Amino acid sequence: MDIEALRRDTPGCANRVHLNNAGAGLLSRQTLAAVVGQLELEAAIGGYEAAEQQRERIDSTYRAIATLLGGRADEVALFDGATRAWQAAFSALRFRPGDRILTGRAEYASNVLAYLQAAARTGAEVVVVPDDASGQLDTAALARLIDGRTRLVGVSHVPTSGGLVNPVAEIGRITRAAGVPFLLDATQSVGQLPVDVAAIGCDLLAGTGRKFLRGPRGTGFLWVDTAALEYLDPAVAELRSAVRDGGRGFAWQPGAQRFETWERSPANILGLNAAVRQALALGPDRIGRRCAALGARLREQLDALPGVSTHDRGRERCAIVTARVAGLAAAEVAAALARKGVNVSVTAPADTRFDAGQRDAHPLVRLSPHYFSTEAELDLAVDAVAGLL
Ligand SMILES: *Cc1c(COP(=O)(O)O)cnc(C)c1O
Repeated sequence: MDIEALRRDTPGCANRVHLNNAGAGLLSRQTLAAVVGQLELEAAIGGYEAAEQQRERIDSTYRAIATLLGGRADEVALFDGATRAWQAAFSALRFRPGDRILTGRAEYASNVLAYLQAAARTGAEVVVVPDDASGQLDTAALARLIDGRTRLVGVSHVPTSGGLVNPVAEIGRITRAAGVPFLLDATQSVGQLPVDVAAIGCDLLAGTGRKFLRGPRGTGFLWVDTAALEYLDPAVAELRSAVRDGGRGFAWQPGAQRFETWERSPANILGLNAAVRQALALGPDRIGRRCAALGARLREQLDALPGVSTHDRGRERCAIVTARVAGLAAAEVAAALARKGVNVSVTAPADTRFDAGQRDAHPLVRLSPHYFSTEAELDLAVDAVAGLL
């Protein structure tokens, strides 16, 4: 990877040490040009006309995402965020009293809220699978808990609040064997790690554009295994998702398009397209290796400082690093780093509800480098933390 060239193509690298890619990755010039170019075209010739002119390129976004995930283009639906994508899949499942939803401690807060809403509405039960000693989802416990009442297994690949990488392929083997749908929240993993739906064995996958994929804000996508369309009942029948059938009824569009709604942002979609193509060109394996290496280096450097501890769990860890500085609130550390031009964020106990309840660890400072981060930038951030001690 030509890191210097990639940084030259990333305007934000000139201004900040950006260690907040788990919040939003920095746009490349190519992605920026794709977004702005479409907005300029809309201003110049009209919004509908601009979309028509760019139709092939907009359509190719589905192929690009499918290639990235190892699925098919007609299994991809586009949204304005991962939450929307995830909700489109989750709200298409029908629960009855006594049905069980199995999830993990690292599940994203919005997903948990949706489980609780479904439980309140339908009488389904939410069961939290414990972690193993390393802190990842305990797959032996999952295998014990999964039974005839289980209607869904919903898991976050990488939580928002730490460096954990859950053992998703093992989870997929268990859900496949049990014939239970597996909804994977891959929001923090796509763009950071190689994510292959066939290798994982999930049935549904939601992701966002703006984090490690470096796409524009306000973009997200859902991958739906074609076989899952049989039991999914989309929540919204409208102009893009469905058609009148000539009689009194309607029919869903074929494929995952049945989860979309008509109005959307071609500019953002074209930006997402550019970002996905860039990830494909660099290679998810190479990106994954560099991200993991930078995360491990940063964790080691922080742990070496007296009074600083990192709190990332699991057997496999990624580029998200969470730390506590003795005697200082996480928000104070983040503010001090911001004054030195270092972008980080702070984990909120509410972000991963079950996790926070168990560990009592948050809030923590969250540092999330990306492949375009340099070792010198990590040193600068670590020195800034050391300066606070
Ligand atoms: C950020 C995040 C989401 C939500 O993504 P949006 O694009 O903001 O809707 C979901 N799950 C995880 C694990 C996240 O980190």
